[in-house]
Amino acid sequence: MTTRIDFDLKPSAQPLSAAEREAVLADPGFGRHFTDHMVTIKWTEGRGWHDAQLQPYAPLQIDPANMTLHYAQTIFEGLKAYRQPDGSVATFRPDANARRFQRSAHRLAMPELPVETFVEACDLLVSTDREWVPSQGEQSLYLRPFMFATEVGLGVRPSNEYLFMVIASPAGAYFPQGVKPVSVWLSEEYVRAAPGGMGEAKTGGNYAASLVAQAEAAAQGCDQVVWLDALERRYIEEMGGMNLYLVRGTGDDVTIVTPQLTGTLLPGITRDSLLRIAEDLGYGTEEARVSTDDWQSGDADGTLTEVFACGTAAVITPVGHVKSARAEWTVGDGETGPVTKRLRDALLAIQTGQAPDPYAWMH
Ligand code: PMP
Repeated sequence: MTTRIDFDLKPSAQPLSAAEREAVLADPGFGRHFTDHMVTIKWTEGRGWHDAQLQPYAPLQIDPANMTLHYAQTIFEGLKAYRQPDGSVATFRPDANARRFQRSAHRLAMPELPVETFVEACDLLVSTDREWVPSQGEQSLYLRPFMFATEVGLGVRPSNEYLFMVIASPAGAYFPQGVKPVSVWLSEEYVRAAPGGMGEAKTGGNYAASLVAQAEAAAQGCDQVVWLDALERRYIEEMGGMNLYLVRGTGDDVTIVTPQLTGTLLPGITRDSLLRIAEDLGYGTEEARVSTDDWQSGDADGTLTEVFACGTAAVITPVGHVKSARAEWTVGDGETGPVTKRLRDALLAIQTGQAPDPYAWMH
């Protein structure tokens, strides 16, 4: 049983003018500009969720001894709102993000926000700042719900109060020049997450842990890092901020294979959606352990035809080239393959309302 939260509405007295907003939307980039408003909800031990507000986007004041700054009790989500052909706006599977947010909260010993409150908070921000949802091609309004400890003190224990927030940022097309395959570096030195750790939670620490490996990938001339399992450094987990799929076979006999959810990788909502779409397009699907040796030999003998990564930001990104300390090879012909392209088009068509949504994913 959950009781509905009432939001106190405090609209901005100084929203950006239409001309200023349009100037931002002409070239939004990613995560650089924020809309006029934000949502905040407090949680306090013994009192629960309270003081839900829609208010003008503004900086926060943080005490130097705020627990989050020291012990990183913080989680976040990422989802997108898309302009639909009739001018309305729809978000993609916000309930799935809400459930993942609850699982992240559980892992970080934080209170679980009710799914309906999470979705309502997103809806409220999107409808208030609806003019900020771009309408060109693959553009969207990226929503960033997050929660962090707000208690002040240096004792290491769960905070007794938290702040949940949602902010929004217009996002341009991820590939304005057309989809282009990325090159990846297999990280055999650094690991992202170990069994029993926080790998399947969407928490800041996992991203802090990734930065040095991403820098190593860049130094190796690669676009992205691919994480391997912590114990043997043999099995593929995920790529940077995206899940991975390998494509086996061609023509009528195609199976897409994705690393199984072992607890050390993020259970992506795009990953989950593609399992469904692929089956309906007639592809086989498999969740399995895939080793880097299997990847290399599959490309060498031609059984592995394509590899792609998937996530909210880029939807689907083809992987064209692989490099490690010991080997280097090209995936297929190094270009975007037909299965990758078909799945990308199918998912984007649902998100942008160009195709029917048989899964009731659009909200
Ligand atoms: N893995 C990681 C580490 C991520 O940060 C993301 C982005 N949330 C993903 C995978 C893909 O998840 P989703 O499809 O839900 O965006």
